[in-house]
Amino acid sequence: MRFSTKQIHAGTEPDPVTGSVLPPIYQSTTFAQPSVDEYLSKGYSYSRSGNPTVRALEKRLAGLENGEDCTCYSTGMAAVSAVLHAFLNAGDHALVSQVAYGGTYRVCTQVFARFGARFTFVDTSDPAAVEAAIRPETRLLLTETPANPTLALSDIAALSEIARANDLIHVVDNTFLTPYYQHPLALGAHVSLHSTTKYLDGHNATVGGANVAATAELDEKLRFVQNATGSIMSPMVAWLTLQGVKTLSVRMDRQSASAMAIAQYLSDHPAVGEVCYPGLESFGQHELAGRQASGFGAMLWCELIGGLEAGKTLMDNVELWTLAENLGAVESLITHPVTMTHADVEPEERQRVGLRDGLVRFSVGLEAPEDLIEALDAALSRL
Ligand SMILES: *Cc1c(COP(=O)(O)O)cnc(C)c1O
Repeated sequence: MRFSTKQIHAGTEPDPVTGSVLPPIYQSTTFAQPSVDEYLSKGYSYSRSGNPTVRALEKRLAGLENGEDCTCYSTGMAAVSAVLHAFLNAGDHALVSQVAYGGTYRVCTQVFARFGARFTFVDTSDPAAVEAAIRPETRLLLTETPANPTLALSDIAALSEIARANDLIHVVDNTFLTPYYQHPLALGAHVSLHSTTKYLDGHNATVGGANVAATAELDEKLRFVQNATGSIMSPMVAWLTLQGVKTLSVRMDRQSASAMAIAQYLSDHPAVGEVCYPGLESFGQHELAGRQASGFGAMLWCELIGGLEAGKTLMDNVELWTLAENLGAVESLITHPVTMTHADVEPEERQRVGLRDGLVRFSVGLEAPEDLIEALDAALSRL
């Protein structure tokens, strides 16, 4: 089946009992067993260990990523934590993209490091730098591409080759492009990770996470952690996400086209300095963007000529664009990463990795692009 068919049908079919076209929300803690000897004969025992609604979303996401199976979690951070729990022991070392979601940096440095795991934040845009950072005790490579918020890209195929040659598990955070535009597993990665909070839900309604694994063995390790630590997704969230994901391809195409129009508008504006969008010819890794993904996504950033102060004026005054964290939903959002999503990354580290103070991040939603541009134009004219 093609992607847009799978996003609607994979993992679900009309309910055999009632004919209900949408799957029921199985809001039940526990599941009656036919007899002691037939324990688990229907596949479910207790909702921490498995729930039919959550399972339906897991199967759908596995289908969209062409993975072996999928585990869903309470949040994207729980998905990141599950990967660290599943593939790292005390004393092990992991390589992590030096630009990544702020929470990923925080959980590595402030939680897992306390239990003896070691981390190096490396420029995964440069495969040679990754290779050079591998130590005998390195077990895991966690790549975020495009990276939040700089949009730096990493070559998934090249990194997967290095990972496999060195017995590392390669996990790719695929949140920004989703399986509609980018297939990390087909490029050699072991796990494709998502904050389903973003494009997969797509409606600013839920927080959730997912890990799609390339093999049953990897999935089993993740599923053990999901059950053992209890970091599960709720049936209600899974059900809402199942509805959101049905329109993923339509939303992504439309939001990405709007992002391109907005990037071009900003590039031409005299008050705007650098504009960063992978679809622009001026984007430093434009060739890689076109080679490893089938779309450029709906995230972009710019810096204003007037620097941070001008950026604050824009973010505080622009109509229609909501000043908020989160991204990927139908509502357009504007964010100041340094004070919001990435506040826990130390100033020296931000400077080292190019996360500049004046950076203004845009998550382009599904509104009419003309309205989005007019709102920006009105705010920029006030600078
Ligand atoms: C938001 C985000 C996360 C964390 O997900 P939550 O659902 O907020 O816990 C991880 N990675 C990326 C790239 C993100 O944008």
